[in-house]
Amino acid sequence: MFGPRTRVALPILGVSVLGILWKVALEPAATPARPPPEVSRSEQEWRAILSPESFRVLREKGTEPPYKNRFWRHRDPGVYLCGACHAQLFDSTTKFESGSGWPSFWKPRTESAVIEEVEWSAMGRRVEVRCARCHSHLGHVFEDGPRPTGKRYCMNSLALDFEAEA
Ligand SMILES: [Zn+2]
Repeated sequence: MFGPRTRVALPILGVSVLGILWKVALEPAATPARPPPEVSRSEQEWRAILSPESFRVLREKGTEPPYKNRFWRHRDPGVYLCGACHAQLFDSTTKFESGSGWPSFWKPRTESAVIEEVEWSAMGRRVEVRCARCHSHLGHVFEDGPRPTGKRYCMNSLALDFEAEA
């Protein structure tokens, strides 16, 4: 069934397949492995700590209604915290009026304060934003924000807390 040519070709094919597998194994993953959350609780524990509304947003990726939330027009100077673990996420100096009806920021307080993850849903492709410390859902980030970043971190008030400037 296999001619002399195939007998030569098969081992070569085998070697190149091994080579590809080897290369894949050595290649760094496209997204680096995420460290586990620093603050980790069971969903039951979160449920006991959070209000039902905040739990739905933070732990079940819910979205609150626009314009009817605590922070969309909030202008006090201070720091916005994660509503679940109280990590410092956004400075009031980066908050802007986006017209969306949700609190919007053009950058997180530090680069490592949030994690961003591509998400596919009925809404199409979106980039989900989560708290880096406890991995709770906060909202999404869009590319139509103001300068200097061009980003719009569209957050749920129910996922945030606020610490006024002393
Ligand atoms: Zn958190």
